[in-house]
Amino acid sequence: MIHPQQKTLLQVDVKELKGKPGAQETLSRTVPTPADFATVLVGIPEASDLNVQVRLESVHEGVLLTGSASAEVTGECARCLDAISYPLTVDVMQLFTWVDETGGENDDGDSLAVDENLMVDVEPVLRDLMVSALPFQPVCREDCPGLCSQCGFRLEDDPEHAHEQVDPRWAALAGLAAELNENEEPGGEPDPS
Ligand SMILES: [Zn+2]
Ligand SMILES: [Zn+2]
Repeated sequence: MIHPQQKTLLQVDVKELKGKPGAQETLSRTVPTPADFATVLVGIPEASDLNVQVRLESVHEGVLLTGSASAEVTGECARCLDAISYPLTVDVMQLFTWVDETGGENDDGDSLAVDENLMVDVEPVLRDLMVSALPFQPVCREDCPGLCSQCGFRLEDDPEHAHEQVDPRWAALAGLAAELNENEEPGGEPDPS
């Protein structure tokens, strides 16, 4: 018999937990990271390893999901554009409430609901937690000097890197001075010999 519902690797059947406070299910597996666990500059690459270690415990009002998830974040430094990667682990704690038998909506703002097939989908919870743990401006290290704003040179390669800032007005004066010197040259000072 074909299962009526396509179950993803991050969905847990909690039928056995209903009405049995204290009963538990665990989800302990490494799954391919689903899409969109990322922001513009950094993220967890789709299909890379996502290690999930969570417990689902039956409580009076629903199922309490607790545990952690970890994966390798990759991306690029917002300052120097170097590739960066580091491990990320997030703590998970989320309550899924049983949907009222009468079909009534549960108005508790912070909780999610166990769906009508008595399944809990862990994926959106993990996505929210992991994406919000990603830095808005990722840097390869806190004091990354970045790139030269004028030529794009990697400042780390030469901390002395600078451009000679010649004010155009000074350039004109310098030109004039050179001209004057030239004019003075023929009738110049007597040889100091
Ligand atoms: Zn950098
Ligand atoms: Zn430069």
